[in-house]
Amino acid sequence: MTSPQNGPESLDRHLLTGMMDIMTDHVFILRREGPRYRLVYCNQAMANFMRQRPADLCGRRLDEIVPDPKLYQRIAGNYDRVLEAGHILRFEETTEGFEANQVRIFDTCLSPMPGTDGDALYICGISRDTTARREAELALQQANETLETQLAENQELHRQLEEEAIRDPLTNLFNRRYFLESLTRELSRAHRETYPVTLMMLDIDHFKELNDSHGHSVGDQVLVEVSQRLCAGMRKEDVVCRWGGEEFLIMMPGLSLADAHVRIMSWRRDHSPMAVQLPGLSLAISFSSGLATAPHHGTTTDDVINATDKALYEAKTNGRNQVRLYRQPA
Ligand code: GH3
Ligand code: MG
Ligand code: MG
Repeated sequence: MTSPQNGPESLDRHLLTGMMDIMTDHVFILRREGPRYRLVYCNQAMANFMRQRPADLCGRRLDEIVPDPKLYQRIAGNYDRVLEAGHILRFEETTEGFEANQVRIFDTCLSPMPGTDGDALYICGISRDTTARREAELALQQANETLETQLAENQELHRQLEEEAIRDPLTNLFNRRYFLESLTRELSRAHRETYPVTLMMLDIDHFKELNDSHGHSVGDQVLVEVSQRLCAGMRKEDVVCRWGGEEFLIMMPGLSLADAHVRIMSWRRDHSPMAVQLPGLSLAISFSSGLATAPHHGTTTDDVINATDKALYEAKTNGRNQVRLYRQPA
């Protein structure tokens, strides 16, 4: 097929061959001979790839053209499958074993064809080099994976920043700003749904003395310990906040003043005085607390916090280490 011949049919062949030779895809035809295959036609693109002339390749057996046994097995195996299937099959082929360091990927379509010469069986094939496309796809996939990892890291960072913005760094309790936002939200919901919201302010007694006698770092450790025990004693829906230095404010939505009082008394039975063991140091910490409730003692954040603060002040002035409920002025 590679050389023009005379006559109308051979002119057609000549034109067809010319057309095949301007294609960039590899076009080839093999004839089955027993268990082997012989190349009977290949276009210029395929010959270029094999670094030979079409005339030097055509007519040779496949196992001569492809000396690498593994590569030969892969190629011939696909031809066997096509002849067995009896219809067109498509394969992705790689050229490992053909040229070191330069593996190409081909998208290959194979079609079984009976020849005009009796029982002969042929395979017509077209192979397209898809290496560049697959490499681009791979690069894109890797870029996407990197992007997804970065996105996940950014989201985690964002979450951490959001978390840090609402927490006190020493105790990890909620900070004052978050508490006020939560209380505002809770008070308006409590108003709509008519349930009480009780606040407790708790202050460590004589904390300054503790700092002065044992150092600021011991004071910090006590603050952390108190925070943990406070959190452990509260419900999931309660909001425990570090209101200031050694003052804690706790919001207990849905708890009446009386119920909150019962809870804090029970907590105090276990934790007041609170034994804190530090290396070479045993401390006994006591607390004073004030309780007030919305809507009974106030309906705004300011009013109910002020009432709680006043109750705490009473506990302090009354001798410390005790709980006081807010009493409205007569
Ligand atoms: P009272 O019984 O009346 O509450 O007395 P107090 O000493 O506990 O209260 P005061 O308000 O006089 O002192 C509070 C001290 O808390 C003063 C301040 O240095 C200390 N403080 C505030 N923040 C921190 C902190 O983050 N770490 C430590 N270690 N101390 C702190
Ligand atoms: Mg104090
Ligand atoms: Mg204080």
